[in-house]
Amino acid sequence: METASTMASVRHAFADGSFRRMLIDGKWVEAASGKRFESRNPATGELLATVAEGDSEDINRAVLAARTAFHGPWSRVTPYERQKLLLKFADLVERHFDELSTLDTLDMGAPISRTSGLRLRVLGMLRYYAGQATSIHGETIPNSLPGEIFSYTLKEPVGVVGAIIPWNGPLAATVWKIGPVLATGCTVVLKPAEEAPLTSLRLGELALEAGVPPGVVNIVPGYGETAGAALAAHSGVDKVAFTGSHVTGQSIVRASAGNLKRVSLELGGKSPDIVFSDADIDAAVPGAAMAVFANSGQICSAGTRLFVEQRIYDEFVDRVASFGTGLRVGNGLDPQTQIGPLVSEQQLDRVTKYLSLGREEGARAVTGGERLTEGPLANGYFVPPTVFANVRDDMRIAQEEIFGPVISAIPFTDMDDLIQRANSTMFGLGSGVWTRDVSKAHRLARAIRAGSVWVNCYQAMDPAVPFGGYKMSGYGRESGLQHMEEYLNVKAVWIKTA
Ligand code: ADP
Repeated sequence: METASTMASVRHAFADGSFRRMLIDGKWVEAASGKRFESRNPATGELLATVAEGDSEDINRAVLAARTAFHGPWSRVTPYERQKLLLKFADLVERHFDELSTLDTLDMGAPISRTSGLRLRVLGMLRYYAGQATSIHGETIPNSLPGEIFSYTLKEPVGVVGAIIPWNGPLAATVWKIGPVLATGCTVVLKPAEEAPLTSLRLGELALEAGVPPGVVNIVPGYGETAGAALAAHSGVDKVAFTGSHVTGQSIVRASAGNLKRVSLELGGKSPDIVFSDADIDAAVPGAAMAVFANSGQICSAGTRLFVEQRIYDEFVDRVASFGTGLRVGNGLDPQTQIGPLVSEQQLDRVTKYLSLGREEGARAVTGGERLTEGPLANGYFVPPTVFANVRDDMRIAQEEIFGPVISAIPFTDMDDLIQRANSTMFGLGSGVWTRDVSKAHRLARAIRAGSVWVNCYQAMDPAVPFGGYKMSGYGRESGLQHMEEYLNVKAVWIKTA
């Protein structure tokens, strides 16, 4: 079997160390400034590509291209033709799926077992949006005015969309932004995360191959404070669709004020995952563990506050810890790997600071708790699955988003008290409940203030089911019919007929 170190030298046609340009108006161009930045494999430090580094000048050019395309022939492309484009794009993504998922693994570290497992999700999204393209319609609405006056609504594309995505799943995140753009007839300038821009750029190539007209999809890699900020503030952008941290989300909202562009935000979380003593414990142990350890904890809706009923607390926490200890950490290219590296040195610093903080606050690491540096792991940003016991609600490891494979396990006894504690963070993205008692499940499903409640499972996602936040986890929904509305304006039309 190959080892992590021999696999470090595996080459990928799109990550062979060469230069990658940005996509503006259907052409692959250098940054106006000529600047470039590096993209490296977080498991090995190896250089994957140098990438054109966009800033405000490139954003200006891309927004102009998107605006011109929006008002040009694209506005006359029929829903059926947009559907065909999306289906063709989906077919190309399917044909190149292994290449794309490997690119995600190389660029941001997630195990290939995970990235290749996203096939149904990614293709399902594209084909769902294709279905939506021909299903968008207004309504005929009776009114009560005197005389003959007819009223109806039109649903119109909102216009130029600025899409800003994070690095924790570039393939799915890019499709989640481009899909509704093509379905509704909008145009987009997408800024991938500086940590992992390659899959978005490769998807740009496939979009052109599918026949997406010039200017409809533009991809401008660059840093958040420059390219991202310029896009969020741009007066030629009608809507920003942002996924990332709540602090950046706040900057986006402030930046949007200049032209009052529409904003949708999918931000962070500190989601409660609640285990009752009547749960199917054999299912709840791996469920609660992977609700956090999947993708090394780099998922905004990870169930990081693990509330366990006091009666089973010690046993359950030990079992989750042993499950975590048994997970194989390594280079994501190894098919056996279950936990890859964190994406960057910056994330490593952030997560290891929380590991120290947890101990200082008096929590006990039942497993994990230190960075891994042995053998082939030395060159990457590896943190093992970590479970903290003896966690109190007021500790920072129980309140702040760590974005690493770190569980804070907290005991509970009383249901009313539990509900109040589960809701007492500033976030409200995901939540989990493990119980065999259907009345407890229903009660918590209503009581938890979060955009998703998963009962006896965690992190289920489907293109038809809306996903999004309460409170400081953001606003707007992605997936489902609500997602389409985020990209549409409603126009009322009145026609006096007599
Ligand atoms: P994370 O902690 O997940 O990296 P960020 O919110 O920092 O979350 O980054 C998510 C995306 O937001 C990235 O594409 C990043 O470049 C971009 N970004 C960061 N800062 C800003 C900003 N001030 N304005 C717009 N985009 C930004």
